[in-house]
Amino acid sequence: MATRPFDWLELRPEGLYCRPADLYIDPTRPVARAVITHGHADHARPGHGAVLATAETHAIMAVRYPDDAPERQAAAYGAPVALGGVRFWLAPAGHVLGSAQVVIEHGGARAVVSGDYKRQADPTAAPFEPVRADLFVTEATFGLPVFRHPEPEHEVEKLLASLTQFPERAHLLGVYGLGKCQRMLALIRAAGYDAPIYLHGALIALTELYRAHGHDFGDIRPAAGASKAAFQGALTLAPPSAATDRWARRLGDVKAAIASGWMGVRARARQRGAELPLVISDHADWDALLRTCLETQAEEVWITHGREDALAYALAAAGQRARPLRLAGREDDAE
Ligand SMILES: [Zn+2]
Ligand SMILES: [Zn+2]
Repeated sequence: MATRPFDWLELRPEGLYCRPADLYIDPTRPVARAVITHGHADHARPGHGAVLATAETHAIMAVRYPDDAPERQAAAYGAPVALGGVRFWLAPAGHVLGSAQVVIEHGGARAVVSGDYKRQADPTAAPFEPVRADLFVTEATFGLPVFRHPEPEHEVEKLLASLTQFPERAHLLGVYGLGKCQRMLALIRAAGYDAPIYLHGALIALTELYRAHGHDFGDIRPAAGASKAAFQGALTLAPPSAATDRWARRLGDVKAAIASGWMGVRARARQRGAELPLVISDHADWDALLRTCLETQAEEVWITHGREDALAYALAAAGQRARPLRLAGREDDAE
């Protein structure tokens, strides 16, 4: 076997490390210098000395970590940044607002670190752009052939049909606060639903941030302070935990829905108490993972987290050298 050309990129306890630039990508512990792919908590952590990210990711981190004050460097998609003789640029990952793949060019080779990504259209995130790579670093959250995400519009139709069918019930949709909440609002509005939508307090700040970035979600109201009667026949969004716990009781007779890629697993939907499971994910499904890895034409693929072995096996069969990294500290169950 030839010597690995990517010895300038290595796995350390803090995460993926680019030695010549002395920086980490999505480190799980505080470091001097980091590139952050997107604002989810398992990738964007507080306490770093300097952070390179999109302006949107910086804005999300500022909302989530108001006391964090790294030296912030913002890069637009496609704009190169030189650090320690290494050329970096960010490409859209289609995952959430501001999400980026990190493109690293050094020694005549190009590595692309995807962070989390999806290929489905999402009105609230810039679409994923495939970048030709020598080394592609991918996630594998849904890296098993059983994971095939349906069209999100089809799932939203189920929710709207239920609202019509059960006009006396309070529909409560469990969504994660960054990305899923705003994507669902956009999809629901695009499907023609224009009644007021109520939001749990934990979802308001990030939804406001999306609004400030030009995303209009129509008539959105805080759930706090609304009367029980207001929720009847209406739609309320809350974090998945709140959707099935005591908080939900204030809404009256609740029909609980959850929007998550994991809702395709029947046992998990039941365990989470989702009467109406909607399979909507901000991650690539099996087909999209395979297609994306092949599209990059990378000679070598590293798989950071998720179901790494099945994907590594399928890629190897397709002629790509694949290496599971088994990166600790990623918690994509929460997405
Ligand atoms: Zn994520
Ligand atoms: Zn993640």
